[in-house]
Amino acid sequence: MDKKPIIIGNWKMKLGIAESLELAKQLKHIPAKNVDVVVCPSFVSLSGVIDTLRHSSISVGAQDCFWESEGAFTGETSAAYLREIGASYVILGHSERRKYLGETDEMVHKKIKMALTAGLTPIVCVGETFEQRQEGSKDYVLIQQTVKALEGVPLGADQRVFIAYEPVWVIGSGQAIDPAEAAATHQVIRQSLFDIFPSSVVKSSFSIIYGGSVDANTVNDFTSLENTDGVLVGGASLTADSFRDIIQKA
Ligand code: PEP
Repeated sequence: MDKKPIIIGNWKMKLGIAESLELAKQLKHIPAKNVDVVVCPSFVSLSGVIDTLRHSSISVGAQDCFWESEGAFTGETSAAYLREIGASYVILGHSERRKYLGETDEMVHKKIKMALTAGLTPIVCVGETFEQRQEGSKDYVLIQQTVKALEGVPLGADQRVFIAYEPVWVIGSGQAIDPAEAAATHQVIRQSLFDIFPSSVVKSSFSIIYGGSVDANTVNDFTSLENTDGVLVGGASLTADSFRDIIQKA
């Protein structure tokens, strides 16, 4: 299949402002002809990273947004403000937010709608925990997360949603899952989209990517899968050398 994979770096809360700007500077001139590259720094680094990458081929995303556009919501960040600052993407429903911030599928659903309204492309994370996998409910969990997050979301012809399958127990473990399992799981996720959207919309508006301990040695195992449109990378996106290797291998 002829496709241009997307490589998304999630910098989490692992780089301060100076470190983020330095990394952005180092990434700026990396040739990335056959891939789309996105980096997602912390909120406070967004503006500087966007400035640094302005004339490069790398896009910038945030790691979260709120589900209202404005109002008395102390500490929250509006998707509209993120768009105003120049962000193009936003990660939503990351398992770390679900775990530490109590983020629910309903919250993720509202955030997706707001992100799209503001003109951001959502990267929606779904994934099972080790316990859910052990008890055999992996597919059920993924279908629930996908359907609850996306059912009823209005999608315009030019809007895209990325779904990142991220097995929670693999994140940060250093050991990605078997690509064959990722391919089978992406099929489950895609099938659940067919249950809630017309097939033309699933085909034109959704991309499914894999995340969980991807590095330069494994990136191609995932990007070469027919039903996989790219990867979400955490740890290996934090240094210029390792992220460059991933981009060049992909
Ligand atoms: C992530 O947290 O989104 C992620 C993919 O992390 P890592 O690559 O470090 O497993």
